[in-house]
Amino acid sequence: MNPLRLLLLGAPGSGKGTQTSKLLKHFDHVKSVSSGDLLRQQIRLNTDLGHIAAKYIAEGKLLPDSFVTGLVLNELSSRRWLSSKSTWLLDGFPRTVSQAKSLRSELKPHGATLNMVVELDVPESVILERIENRYVHVPSGRVYNLTYNPPKVAGRDDVTGEPLSKRSDDTAEVFGARLANYRETLSPLKAFYSKIGILHKVSGETSDIIFPQLLELVQRELTKN
Ligand code: ATP
Ligand code: MG
Repeated sequence: MNPLRLLLLGAPGSGKGTQTSKLLKHFDHVKSVSSGDLLRQQIRLNTDLGHIAAKYIAEGKLLPDSFVTGLVLNELSSRRWLSSKSTWLLDGFPRTVSQAKSLRSELKPHGATLNMVVELDVPESVILERIENRYVHVPSGRVYNLTYNPPKVAGRDDVTGEPLSKRSDDTAEVFGARLANYRETLSPLKAFYSKIGILHKVSGETSDIIFPQLLELVQRELTKN
């Protein structure tokens, strides 16, 4: 199989985390990193980085580019993913053109630039309703939805049995700010990847409609010659 280095783009609540879990379940060899999960881990560990991150996240603001870029690149490097043979996917990073450019120039010398970017296009009315029902398992980043994807035992993570929590930034007010940020940064970011020729889009209201489309794109990339 070919290496796959995929970025999932999508509004907050569009299901990046859910689609990531589905891909990981489907393909044993695919791994992922989520910038939001990395930041929430820093907060949980009470690090200096975490203290700064918490302030931005609480207001739904994007962190400074250099800050997130450093964090994610460190993670890629420590997992030994900076290689042309590596296969992985990113969720939530890059989010700005500046982050995209930094990532690309760091990956290029390793022959490991992204080869696929997929935008998850979900109507905003659907997204808003989802957020209210969303619960997360912070240590793993696993996401649950009380309507579509409830945990097996109420309030507990399916894998570890640990308690689930509500993200503090999943409130109507903060969510509005996150959505506004997304709208503002999306078009330039899409233009950047479209010019490179790796941008795709999948549309739908539920993860069951989105996933088969995503799977087809991924499968095509993994097996193309
Ligand atoms: P969802 O997880 O529902 O898709 P989201 O994309 O808003 O929503 P995360 O990716 O978890 O959520 O990010 C949460 C917060 O972390 C953001 O609102 C922002 O403050 C910060 N953050 C995450 N990734 C980045 C990034 N690449 N650049 C700047 N800030 C980021
Ligand atoms: Mg997420």
